[in-house]
Amino acid sequence: MKIRVLGAYGAEGLAQRPSAFLLNDRVLIDGGTVGGALASAEQLAIEHALVSHSHLDHIAGLAYLTETLALCEAQTPLTIASLEPVVTALRTSIFNDTVWPDFTKLPSPQAPVLRFQSLREDTEQRVGDFWVRPVPVNHTVPTSGFIVHDGTSGLIYSGDTGPTDALWKAAREVRGLRAVILECAFPNRLAGLADIARHMTPELIRRELDKMPDDVPVLIFHVKPQFYDEIGEELGAVSGARITMLEQDRTYAF
Ligand SMILES: [Zn+2]
Ligand SMILES: [Zn+2]
Repeated sequence: MKIRVLGAYGAEGLAQRPSAFLLNDRVLIDGGTVGGALASAEQLAIEHALVSHSHLDHIAGLAYLTETLALCEAQTPLTIASLEPVVTALRTSIFNDTVWPDFTKLPSPQAPVLRFQSLREDTEQRVGDFWVRPVPVNHTVPTSGFIVHDGTSGLIYSGDTGPTDALWKAAREVRGLRAVILECAFPNRLAGLADIARHMTPELIRRELDKMPDDVPVLIFHVKPQFYDEIGEELGAVSGARITMLEQDRTYAF
């Protein structure tokens, strides 16, 4: 399994793109940015998008991706796969013919470039070539993390979340786990804001480590660009070797 980091951040900064990852060139995990990181031909190869929740920093790139698919007459539609409340939010608040066109009817209702797939909570199911288990996590809107594997190796993607037990509990059943991709948005001094907005700080991550599967590397994403250096220093103090910041534009192989 290879995962390409299209966007590693929790917002947009100069050359810092919102959260998006591409598995084996075909399946997005979140889509905060897509066209900002991929050529048109690479965008056309995408078949599925696993979406953790409806916040803009995880979906903005899907708006432009669907337009690209329509303009380039893509042969394969994009299927956005997520929990039912997230699918509903995307249908009613984004692809609603007001904020953005309803690409489930374009270029024609018979052959649209966008489809939706509602995923069952806490159940392993097929998305593209992968097995995916969405696990509800602790955020301000309905959000799931994802446990994704290909039969040989797997990873945990946290989505946006504050402290969570459900995700780590589900992870205990996974064999071949190669990485935890975990969010961290704020430095320790903003613990109050992290609590309200349901995000991690380095101190909260330190406490989560004991709940996670042993010895699996923890790769951090979703750092707010304003706090990159500060969070990097604080994470280094938590656990030097086990935790690293994900590098945007790098492809990791598991
Ligand atoms: Zn976010
Ligand atoms: Zn969020």
